[in-house]
Amino acid sequence: MAPTALKTPAQIYSSNENDESHVSRAEAELSVRQLIRWAGDNPDREGLLETPARVVKAFEEWFSGYNQDPAEILSKTFEEVEGYNDLVLLRGVRLESYCEHHMAPIIGTAHVAYQPDSRVVGISKLARLVEVYSKRLQIQEKLTTQIANTLDAVLKPKGVAVMISAEHQCMSTRGVHKHDVDTITSRFTGCFETDTGLQNRFFQLVG
Ligand SMILES: [Zn+2]
Repeated sequence: MAPTALKTPAQIYSSNENDESHVSRAEAELSVRQLIRWAGDNPDREGLLETPARVVKAFEEWFSGYNQDPAEILSKTFEEVEGYNDLVLLRGVRLESYCEHHMAPIIGTAHVAYQPDSRVVGISKLARLVEVYSKRLQIQEKLTTQIANTLDAVLKPKGVAVMISAEHQCMSTRGVHKHDVDTITSRFTGCFETDTGLQNRFFQLVG
C-alpha cells in the first residue's frame, strides 16, 4: 500500500514555517474559534475559552492514523504454527472512524479474517491495522478495502476477508436523520473471493 501523502498532525506542527502547507497549532485553534462563532456562540465566554485548544488536541487523537505506517504494523510474522492451516478470525473489533464528507463519527464493528499460507501475524496487529486506517478521514468502502488489501499485500496469505458494519452519524444526526441503520461493507481476496463455501463460513462465524 502506498503511504498516504497527507501530513500527520505531528509533521504539520513540526515542519518548517516556510513550507506553505504548514498549519500552526495556533492557526488550527483559530479555525475552531471561527467555527464556534459560525455556530452562533461566543468563543470568549468562559466555557468555550479553552475549547479550540481541546478540539485541536482531540484531533491529534482522532486522526492519529496519519502518523502510522500500516505495513510496518504487520512486519513481524511467525512461521512456527505447527501446521495450523485454518482461517484466523478477529471478530468484533470496535471501530471508530470519521466520515470524510462531514467529519462526523462512524461507529461500528470490524471483522478481519485471513487464511494463512506459511506465516501468521500477532492477533493484536489486526486490531491495530483496523485502528490505523480508522483514525483518518474515511468512507466505509475505502476503509474496508484498505484493511483487506494491506493484509493481503504484506502478509501474503491465501486469502483475506474483511467485513465492517457501522452507523454513520452524519446520517443519524443530520441530513436524513435515519437512526439504527447500519452500513455493511465487505471485501474478499484470494481463496475467500473464489471459494463461496469459505465466504459463507466467514459470514456464519461473524454472525
Ligand atoms: Zn458523512
